Amino acid sequence: MNCRDTQNLLDGYGDGELDLVRTLDIERHLQECPGCTQIQRNNQELQAALKEPSLYFRAPTHLHKRLRGAARAALPDVPRYRVSLWRGASVAAASACAALLLWVLIALPARPAADDVLAQEVVSGHIRSLMANHLTDVPSSDHHTVKPWFDGKLDFAPPVTDLTKQGFPLVGGRLDYIGSKAVAAVVYQRRQHFINLFIWPSHDSAESSNKMMTRQGYNVIRWTQAGMSFWLVSDVNLSELQQFAEVVQNPS
Ligand SMILES: [Zn+2]
Repeated sequence: MNCRDTQNLLDGYGDGELDLVRTLDIERHLQECPGCTQIQRNNQELQAALKEPSLYFRAPTHLHKRLRGAARAALPDVPRYRVSLWRGASVAAASACAALLLWVLIALPARPAADDVLAQEVVSGHIRSLMANHLTDVPSSDHHTVKPWFDGKLDFAPPVTDLTKQGFPLVGGRLDYIGSKAVAAVVYQRRQHFINLFIWPSHDSAESSNKMMTRQGYNVIRWTQAGMSFWLVSDVNLSELQQFAEVVQNPS
């Protein structure tokens, strides 16, 4: 046995973990090799020093308790649950209550209002009309052509007025679907910008003033008038869209 093999096994030899053959091999090598003998002697001294009683302390009671608690917490849940079934049940009930409270606090205010859902739908309708190059079913700047086109296609008669004089020429009309209902989309133009005016019968008979929103970079204005809901969508700036809303509300 050479020095390297011997030194690799010295720890096991010192702890009495080697079989008889290897133990005899190492003892034979140690008798002939002062270097390995010195290493073996150092190991023995270190082992003896580590057994010195002054190195050991009894854990204080509070540390003892903390360690036992930590060890218990690290154990799997099942046996503890059996031991303290009722305590477990009450903890579960408290957790469920806390989860419910959290849901009420977080989920309910986050639920979108009807207006938000409709705003999203009219903006989608506006984008769809521009992307699909399907701005109008009846392209005409004449409200005497556009208004009768809706007859028989909808169960209401949307107001269609020509607002060219006011700077918003009529482009045409289109059927669209908002909230899975057929609605009228009357399209106007302001310079290079298109404005979709969505109209459908309102459930609310009360008139409402303008409500402004921005969705996905588009300005939206909605109001209720004469039993109809009106929703304007455009990338035209908000002040011009407000001006348009006033013109639609008071066309003469
Ligand atoms: Zn040696």
